[in-house]
Amino acid sequence: MSKREAAAGLLHWSGAGSLSLVWQRILGRREKLAILAYHRVAEPEDGFGFLDEELISATPAQFDEQISYLTQHYHLTTFSQLQKAPQEKQKLSPLSVIITFDDGYRDVWDAVWPILRKHKAQAVVFLATDYITSGELFWWDKVYYCLKQTSKDKLSLKSRADWQPLPLTTDTERHRAKTKLIQYLKQAPDGERRQILDELAAETGVKVALPPDWRPTLTWAEVRKLSRKGLEFGAHTMTHPILTQLSDEALARELQGSRHRISEETGQAVVSFCYPVGIEGAYDERVRGAVERCGFKFAVVAGHGVNNMSAVDPLALRRLRVAPRDSLLVFKQKLLFPQWIRY
Ligand SMILES: [Zn+2]
Repeated sequence: MSKREAAAGLLHWSGAGSLSLVWQRILGRREKLAILAYHRVAEPEDGFGFLDEELISATPAQFDEQISYLTQHYHLTTFSQLQKAPQEKQKLSPLSVIITFDDGYRDVWDAVWPILRKHKAQAVVFLATDYITSGELFWWDKVYYCLKQTSKDKLSLKSRADWQPLPLTTDTERHRAKTKLIQYLKQAPDGERRQILDELAAETGVKVALPPDWRPTLTWAEVRKLSRKGLEFGAHTMTHPILTQLSDEALARELQGSRHRISEETGQAVVSFCYPVGIEGAYDERVRGAVERCGFKFAVVAGHGVNNMSAVDPLALRRLRVAPRDSLLVFKQKLLFPQWIRY
């Protein structure tokens, strides 16, 4: 049993979970908003070997169980409803949750939407719009695929001559190489990231050839259909760059371009934004200012926690990341005790 599982069990058996729910209802710990962060809902084989299984947040069965629980115990809302709430003089329920999905993987169509519809639940999906248009692999999945498929037993990159060659003989070594590369690329300037990705493809000798009838992302036609059925979309830039690395002009283009495209496709106002990568260093005061000027009312980061809406910056909302190793018990306790049950 993991430490998280043990801690969740202890909280559960002590009765703290149900007490906390009652406590929050009676005393009205108002305006607490928990935002759940998902990437993919799938079985590992659903990615046809092209998508990194580490981005699976839950299997369809786990997600079904989680949404069933949420609809019974929490008030599910969305950012556009939150925006309307003060105008309608509605108080945010003390137990409000927003379900979010990053990037716009096709799982949203295949697995997420049918489960949301079954439970009459709502969610917000953040789209990186250029990837929706091109249907190409996200850059991190490209890294995963190249390192998994290559027949080379080590990797050297000319632009990272300071690195020792990365061994690729075993699965563990390939996983280690992938983690190192992705961590580096998450902070690299845009141009350098593109250059390293080109070099990686050349050095590994791997060409990405997706099956003709399969793509990793939603299509715009699917986005329009889902929007008409009530799914909400937020922006996640056009190309998923690290925003702090961009010039003012490029930053404004990424924000406005993605917001405008989603609004044009769906006919809906786009009120929320998700900072790519979202860790410290991936956003700052200048980026936040640009997000505000672009007209976004809410923005989410990767930092862990729930939000006290009367005290928090709506353009730096924290989230709770959902992981496939989360049992339903851990999932429940993470929502109630985010300070104790972290990733
Ligand atoms: Zn993302």
